[in-house]
Amino acid sequence: MTEAPRCRFAPSPTGFLHVGGARTVLFNWLFARQRGGSFLLRVEDTDLDRNQPELVDDILRSIEWLGLGWDGEPVHQSANRDRHLEVAEALVAAGHAFWSGWQPAQGSGPPERRATDRDAGLGPGEGRALRFRVPDGGATTFTDLIRGDVTVGHADIEDFVLVRANGTPMFLLANAVDDSDMAITHVLRGEEHVNGTPKYLLIQAAMGPTVRPTFAHLPILVDEQRKKLSKRKHAVAVSDFEAKGILPEAMVNYLALLGWGPPDGIEVRPLAELVELFRLEDVNSSPAFFDVKKLEAINGDYLRALPVEDFLGRVEPFLEHGERSRPVLRELGAEVQTRVRTLADAEGYVDFLWRDEPEIDEAAWAKALGRDERAAPMLDATIAEWEAAPLDVDALKAAMERAALAAGYVNAEGGPQLGKAQAPVRVALTGRTVGPPLFESVVALGRDRTLARLREARRRL
Ligand code: GLU
Repeated sequence: MTEAPRCRFAPSPTGFLHVGGARTVLFNWLFARQRGGSFLLRVEDTDLDRNQPELVDDILRSIEWLGLGWDGEPVHQSANRDRHLEVAEALVAAGHAFWSGWQPAQGSGPPERRATDRDAGLGPGEGRALRFRVPDGGATTFTDLIRGDVTVGHADIEDFVLVRANGTPMFLLANAVDDSDMAITHVLRGEEHVNGTPKYLLIQAAMGPTVRPTFAHLPILVDEQRKKLSKRKHAVAVSDFEAKGILPEAMVNYLALLGWGPPDGIEVRPLAELVELFRLEDVNSSPAFFDVKKLEAINGDYLRALPVEDFLGRVEPFLEHGERSRPVLRELGAEVQTRVRTLADAEGYVDFLWRDEPEIDEAAWAKALGRDERAAPMLDATIAEWEAAPLDVDALKAAMERAALAAGYVNAEGGPQLGKAQAPVRVALTGRTVGPPLFESVVALGRDRTLARLREARRRL
């Protein structure tokens, strides 16, 4: 048995926890948990200009919401600043770093890699940064569990900055020192860090004996156009999905599928099974499509699996008009539960029952009424039938079948095409194409309101 791993998630609090970060959390968590290791949290809050303390709360809260607890107290990187500077000084003393006023030329020629003043013996001073003395020859190689061996020649790495001219440690230095001090054995992080890894390893090697971690750089997330997900263009904050009524267990399940899949192809399964099955080596290096529709479909599966009382309890915080929607949901809860994809959808399935008029979804109207010339005769025939039919589910259904035949909704065997024929009636009554079962809804709505809505839709057509 190999030694238990020590993993960490190291967010910079410059934004909300987004789905890419959450996937990184999950893969670290799965990997650590399946091997009896530790999963630590380190807030990389050294960039004081871009850092927003309230975002730390959002990040920690989102991780808790996902149910992916961490071990011990979160480490705040800013508290380690003296230690970062101490290592910087030791690197100078050992000849691995030097003070430099060099500014790489910004021209079109081949990039300059070596500071022109690396051997000038300068001390700290105005406008001088501390740079790493990258070896002239050789290369740094590391094994990435997802990408295989990665080798970068030292000739391609510039004498990079460790401490800025203003005295603050750079990300690379703080990151490598903290991982070393926390004895991190496995660094699982986003692909954007792969190019910085050789520098990280040069720093650690220069620090002397240390735990040299194994790396795994997780594939980027892209949208349906294969464009990288961006915080500016896409709604990607975990808290946005929470606000939309995605269940944390569905979110976690879906995140596990971003770059990985269970060997038997069964994608919807509890976290305990994911812990068993997850294999970091099987994570794909190509970009993973973040598919909101699939997330919502999986969420629908999780919603349907809840006991109805539990479902109603979870819907509760999402009700805007609880006093009116609650009684209807009590009636139709099980029907709504089988149809919704998010908790926030639920109220929209029943609000037609208490609103004076349904809120018409224009896309639904266009589809069910606007583009089907049978819609008008269907409404006319339904009005005529339902004016006389007894107000019970079977009678309403039989009456509607007659209306469907009269309006031309006829299948190959000459019977009524009830599903198609229901669409214009449903939109007229509820404003939407999906909702609770139609005839139960009509009973709940009552005859007068039903007929008034059908007539209003007919007038509008
Ligand atoms: N603070 C870095 C980030 O938020 C993470 C670095 C790492 O995981 O090593 O991207």
